[in-house]
Amino acid sequence: MPVDPALSVLAKPLESGQAWPRPSCPTCQSGFVRFSSPTEVESHESSSARGHDAFEPEWITGTFVVQGECENPECRQSIHGTGNYGVDYSDRSNYDDYGPSYSSYYTITHLHPPMLMMPIPGSAPDNVREGVLRASRVLFADPGLAATALRATVELFLTHAGVAATTPSGKFRSAHERIEEWRDADPGRPEVADLLFAVKWLGNAGTHEDADLTVIEVLDGARVLDEAFHRLFTGPDIQARARRINAAKGPSRRP
Ligand SMILES: [Zn+2]
Repeated sequence: MPVDPALSVLAKPLESGQAWPRPSCPTCQSGFVRFSSPTEVESHESSSARGHDAFEPEWITGTFVVQGECENPECRQSIHGTGNYGVDYSDRSNYDDYGPSYSSYYTITHLHPPMLMMPIPGSAPDNVREGVLRASRVLFADPGLAATALRATVELFLTHAGVAATTPSGKFRSAHERIEEWRDADPGRPEVADLLFAVKWLGNAGTHEDADLTVIEVLDGARVLDEAFHRLFTGPDIQARARRINAAKGPSRRP
């Protein structure tokens, strides 16, 4: 399963009246989350400006809350969301005799529990699983931090793979140097190493003080890491399953 396309839609401002995407439920991972209409709370500054002679609807701003629930009747996980909204010309309106129409636009900053940024293969080690969860928690709130957490996930994988995080004298080694060591230990690894390098570069960009990474860019990084995980964990899982079927000359029914 690739990175959930619903997250890319949630990463952009959603126009009032627009159907919200249904992301995969982070709890059961089989149902989808249905969101209700958001509830707007206009800011004091915005409501105070309504009496101004030059008032325009584009001045309206505030926060919103939104509720979601997993559609799987066995799960029904509640999701709580919040973010900011503003008013602007509607993307759907046609200019007519009455002038343009306006819509609210909702930008999500938090969803709880967080949506999983990418699927985690069953055979991935626990520290890699925790790294993806950490990145997912901050995806909408701080995309730069999410990219940094994805890079840290690569480093956790390298630690699991036996590539030392520190030098014998106790200094931290760079992610770049560690990926190179992992790549050079096996001739079949350069392509996966390229994927890991890409996640590292995005993580470096996210760490900078003036980081301006967008959620969409971080999701691109998640797609790259997902492909690396697919080759590292999912592919070998499927090959092992094929070997068991071949050995049994039929379905493998080990308990
Ligand atoms: Zn669910």
